[in-house]
Amino acid sequence: MTTRSAFVWALETVSGDTTDPLTVDDELLARARIHAREVPIDVDWDALEWAVSARAKRWAGRCQWDRRREVATIVLSRQAYETYDWETFAAVVRHELIHAWEFQRYGKSGHGTRFREKAAALEAPRHCPSFSTPRYRLWCSNDDCTWGARRHRASPPVTTPERYQCGGCGADYVVEHVASGRRWTCSSGYGGVKAALGEEW
Ligand SMILES: [Zn+2]
Ligand SMILES: [Zn+2]
Repeated sequence: MTTRSAFVWALETVSGDTTDPLTVDDELLARARIHAREVPIDVDWDALEWAVSARAKRWAGRCQWDRRREVATIVLSRQAYETYDWETFAAVVRHELIHAWEFQRYGKSGHGTRFREKAAALEAPRHCPSFSTPRYRLWCSNDDCTWGARRHRASPPVTTPERYQCGGCGADYVVEHVASGRRWTCSSGYGGVKAALGEEW
């Protein structure tokens, strides 16, 4: 896997000055770039640029093509990076890399047969996981607080909410399994809902 020195090297490349505190965006870009280099795909790295979107809430990644410069730009969502586990996010990076490869080679890109075959070979999703349908929603139990969060996997804040607090006011929060609408506020509640749903989980 990625060695520490490679990671630090990429961080330096991104931030330009290691004395600056690393931001989430720096870390995101460093990890994405390192991962990209390990993917067996014939991308022209000199004609590939990277960016982070702090605002994107509906998509995890995008690839733009500047026809005039013949440069592809992969834009990755900060919120996706913070929400997904790394394996899921890395698959998004591979998905966007395929778009970059298609743009560079064919001047256009889609989700057709060529894309599907490449995606299967690289274990990338044919469609990026949609951001608008998270598996779990969290919100504050305090009516005056607007804090909320979304999660795509059953991480500890989802399974044991009693051990955490609202990120806004520090009150307790509620977790909802979006597909079923079932809710819980503690680990036994989570276990009960999971058991009740069985196959539908
Ligand atoms: Zn796509
Ligand atoms: Zn709150």
